[in-house]
Amino acid sequence: SEEKHFQNEPLIDFSLEESRQKMREALETVEDQFGKEYPLLINGRAIDTKATLTSRNPSHLSESLGTISSASADDAIDAIDAARRAFPGWSKTEPQYRAEYLELIAANMRRKRFELAAWIVYECGKPWEEADGDVVEAIDFCMYYADQMRKLSDPRHCDVPGEENVYFYRPRGTVAVIAPWNFPLAILTGMTAAALVTGNTVVMKPAEQSSIVAAKLMDLIHESGIPDGVVNFLPGVGEEVGPELVGSPDVEMITFTGSRDVGLAINESASNTDIRQKMVKRVVAEMGGKNAIIVDDDADLDEAVLGVIHSAFNYAGQKCSACSRVIVVESIHDVFVSRLVEATKSLKIGPAEDPGTIVGPVIDQDARQRIQEYIEIGKEEATLALACDTSELDEEGYYVGPHIFIDVDSTCQIAQEEIFGPVLAVMKADDFEEAITIANDTPYALTAGIYSRSPAHLQRARMELMAGNIYLNRNITGAMVERHPFGGFKMSGMGSKTGGPDYLLQFLVPVNVTENT
Ligand code: GLU
Repeated sequence: SEEKHFQNEPLIDFSLEESRQKMREALETVEDQFGKEYPLLINGRAIDTKATLTSRNPSHLSESLGTISSASADDAIDAIDAARRAFPGWSKTEPQYRAEYLELIAANMRRKRFELAAWIVYECGKPWEEADGDVVEAIDFCMYYADQMRKLSDPRHCDVPGEENVYFYRPRGTVAVIAPWNFPLAILTGMTAAALVTGNTVVMKPAEQSSIVAAKLMDLIHESGIPDGVVNFLPGVGEEVGPELVGSPDVEMITFTGSRDVGLAINESASNTDIRQKMVKRVVAEMGGKNAIIVDDDADLDEAVLGVIHSAFNYAGQKCSACSRVIVVESIHDVFVSRLVEATKSLKIGPAEDPGTIVGPVIDQDARQRIQEYIEIGKEEATLALACDTSELDEEGYYVGPHIFIDVDSTCQIAQEEIFGPVLAVMKADDFEEAITIANDTPYALTAGIYSRSPAHLQRARMELMAGNIYLNRNITGAMVERHPFGGFKMSGMGSKTGGPDYLLQFLVPVNVTENT
């Protein structure tokens, strides 16, 4: 087969009027579609349930986007059953053929990229550029995993006289994909595409908050002509369908991205082996972070301020990769903080559909309340250096302005717990040595960064920072497929990195065949 090599899809340049025009048109097109109903899809059949979810625009609470069927535990059983029955056929298809499906889905995403981005803007409150980044990453996952599967499908031979050995991979079975709302297209697509291209069948459970974006993905998959039952769409309430998906004896693998608590609960329940089960369940869980950036005494402060702000406050800090701690070496602490505070004040807070918005709303009322509680805790534990006011927007949507705390001690709750919002803890370190110690002083190990001009310090950061993704002299979010395989360890997750060379292996079982010749 001809060698294709993966290339990252380029981002849209919104500084061009032509691109802005396309995005405005897509926002209007999508607005005309508000109010529709979205069914489950099981074994290729659309199913309307009695119970429904209503999707709302977090930027404008009065705006309802549509109604989504909400699956029951029985629907989950049906979806698992459909996936199980589709497995024998799908697992026997040629890897090349499955890779082509992913490329077809990617091609359809490219054609609809503005519209998909517009849905992400409305349903998740994600500003334009990041919504486009979400679509681009989804395309990249499809293209990259297609490429990787072609490579993996070459069996490895290890023959000796009188004996032929072949080592190759088989799919596992039915995969439950449980996805978050913060990368509503990219992460759902990535996990689903990986399961599919490796020959597994899927039950796709999106986050409640981003069910319409997920329905759009389901449409693209369906339109690509993938056989019925290979991907089943099961939107609904996590507490209702989650236990069925994780506990079913017919689910061989669970791939999850979300909070640490849910990830650990899934891991625990999946390890309870049901008597009817025929395989030990494989769990892949990408969980939270409490990510730090170190600012060294010789750092380029212009760069450091920008990188920290971007990492901490873009998309209102709702990324597991986001920076929530900055550790500043004492000699430059005060000057860094005053510049950080000034620069943060200039961030535009507002509805995600406004082109200049950097900090949109947070996802829902629970999130706003949780973040506000942490802000209150922070006021007890540390000193509030900046609280960006959103009082004029509070009735309109779920807004929380950027907050910066200083004099934060590493034992504080706001220095240890994932807040998942625009709240940044600034910590002072006596020297570089102590900065590294503080950076590593949490149960998480996802992303980390350092701004420094010292080659020796950069080298130590490379070797000693406890994080799966370490960034030197740049922001710590926005990992790109293939260039920056993404994922952590410790309490940040189990399993290997998305968009990286080992990811697909988790969905496969290796088999060796030895023939006596
Ligand atoms: N991959 C994303 C990034 O590098 C973060 C994904 C997440 O928040 O789950 O920013």
